[in-house]
Amino acid sequence: MDLEGVLIPEIWVAVAERTGIDALKATTRDVPDYGDLMRQRLRILDEHGLTIGQIQSVIDGLSPLLGAKDFCDWVRGRYQLVILSDTFYEFARPLMRRLDWPTLFCHRLEVGDTGKITGYRLRMPDHKRSAVAAFKKLNFTVLAAGDSYNDTSMLSEADAGFFFRAPHKVTKEFPKFPTTETYDELREAIRAASHRLEAAGAR
Ligand SMILES: [Mg+2]
Repeated sequence: MDLEGVLIPEIWVAVAERTGIDALKATTRDVPDYGDLMRQRLRILDEHGLTIGQIQSVIDGLSPLLGAKDFCDWVRGRYQLVILSDTFYEFARPLMRRLDWPTLFCHRLEVGDTGKITGYRLRMPDHKRSAVAAFKKLNFTVLAAGDSYNDTSMLSEADAGFFFRAPHKVTKEFPKFPTTETYDELREAIRAASHRLEAAGAR
């Protein structure tokens, strides 16, 4: 599963709203290249002198999306849930607590002594796709869901991939992935694909 926009709000959008810095509202939905997007975000934070502590206090006030916790519990009771995100551990922690600490693979921020975010360290490029490929090598059947451009390689690599609340712009570009709008629809899509793959003798 993707995280932001699927289980929790878009963190950078929330930071933009709380701080009034509109330029921070851009997400991977708007700027497909993640490196370009992150360079833009760090430049804006620097211009406004925003520290990691200030951003973490905004994130502390956020909750998972309505129904997300129940959805995670449903998945974890039936399958193995791994969240693959392009966020950072430093940002995600308070929200992961509210989801009962599911497994999260994401990236790390580099923070200076004054709390200034000086950079970021990607675990590896295109890690969502690589994780799915690795799970398949371990003989897992993989179902994936996400809402944005940075999910499409993961959805392609998976045995079945779904969009969840993805903007029209994204679904139009990738019509091969079924779209879902509610957790009930996503549960149904997962159930159906899982039965279909099992019947077809997938891993
Ligand atoms: Mg997302």
